[in-house]
Amino acid sequence: MSTVIDSISARLDRRARQHVPGGVNSNVRLAAPHTYFERGVGARLFDVDGRDYVDYLLGQGPNILGHAPEKLQSDVAQAVRRGMLYGAQHEAEVLAAEQVCEILEWPEMVRFGVSGTESVQAALRLARAETGRRRFIRFEGHYHGWLDTTLASWSPDGECSPASAGQLSDHLAEAIPTPWNDLEAVRLQLEQHDDVAAIITEPVMLNAGSIVPRDGYLEGLRELADAFGVVLIFDEVITGFRVALGGAAQRYGVTPDLAVYGKAMAAGWPVSMLAGRADLMERFGSGEVNHSGTFNASVMATAATLSATTILREDDPYARMEAYGERLMDEVRGSAARHGLGLHVQGLGMAFHVSFSDGKAICDYRDLGRTDTERYGRLSRVLADHGVWVAGRGVWYVSAAHDERDMADTLTRVDQAFAEFARHER
Ligand code: PMP
Repeated sequence: MSTVIDSISARLDRRARQHVPGGVNSNVRLAAPHTYFERGVGARLFDVDGRDYVDYLLGQGPNILGHAPEKLQSDVAQAVRRGMLYGAQHEAEVLAAEQVCEILEWPEMVRFGVSGTESVQAALRLARAETGRRRFIRFEGHYHGWLDTTLASWSPDGECSPASAGQLSDHLAEAIPTPWNDLEAVRLQLEQHDDVAAIITEPVMLNAGSIVPRDGYLEGLRELADAFGVVLIFDEVITGFRVALGGAAQRYGVTPDLAVYGKAMAAGWPVSMLAGRADLMERFGSGEVNHSGTFNASVMATAATLSATTILREDDPYARMEAYGERLMDEVRGSAARHGLGLHVQGLGMAFHVSFSDGKAICDYRDLGRTDTERYGRLSRVLADHGVWVAGRGVWYVSAAHDERDMADTLTRVDQAFAEFARHER
């Protein structure tokens, strides 16, 4: 609405489109405002036109310590003085592996990577090698990266189809789409298919709806996986080091066979990790299963992982983040009600979801079909105009850096944005 036509961002965007398709380097960013940022500090972002934003996108989740956390920056800067990439081993990768295994408690071995997408691929390949079967059960609306086997577009009644031109639909057919939060549905799939290698799940459905598992659901998945000899994979790319230091496995007390981490683990540096039981993971060690990567466990990656996980362990910001987020959820509900907007807010404090819906709880992906995503997309752009930076798809992330001043500014700005949005709709 108020994006100034000849702002510096608009000019950079026009230039970018000459050399960068769509002006962005990730298709996820196509629909968001093409704002250019100059710097981030704590919970704030500053754009090239001199405006500041309280940031609840946090780089799609990773910046759990806020922007430019000094200790993390200086730890990484110090490490890279000795080089960036050796193409061989260095001590920090041992330290980082020991530390994450100690923090997470359940895994015995880890392999570092660069993106969540590729570590998911490693997990699925390992599960196939382990079981000698090829397909995997996955859940409606869950996101596991952009590869041909995992990228999916979902119809409101749970049909899964390729989400991209050029995607190999027979690769996607390896997935058996199943409703989430419904153990009977999983049992039926396992009874009907004898070629299932793995069940892969986001343990909290944070990509769509901030839907928490029903009581006993993750435990039930564990039991079903054991009963049918199937590998249970938690995709903790968002939940890991966010919903608790030990991720969802710790928060809900359920142990997978394999889990994928990324995002918050290195607090903004591009690092992912596959963690798991030693007997499974040793298939990489023996050379039987291939997992490779030029940039795996680089000096930056291991320094960032060690530093971020040390800070998170020592500072223990989880209760603080959850309380901040819960208060914000209440305030957003209150402000929406004052302006006559039917906003529904649900989830965990450190990652919650805001949508236009009929007010009933959203318990699975099909419930999201009742929400008006186009209207929320418009609201997210008005929030950006008022200095609150959020994702267009409804998720709000909280960091350890959000403080009382950020809260106060957010509440004023949210209220102004909601007032303007309501005015425009009348
Ligand atoms: N799994 C989940 C649950 C994710 O949320 C994402 C990214 N949003 C991925 C996998 C893919 O991670 P990346 O973008 O690092 O490839």
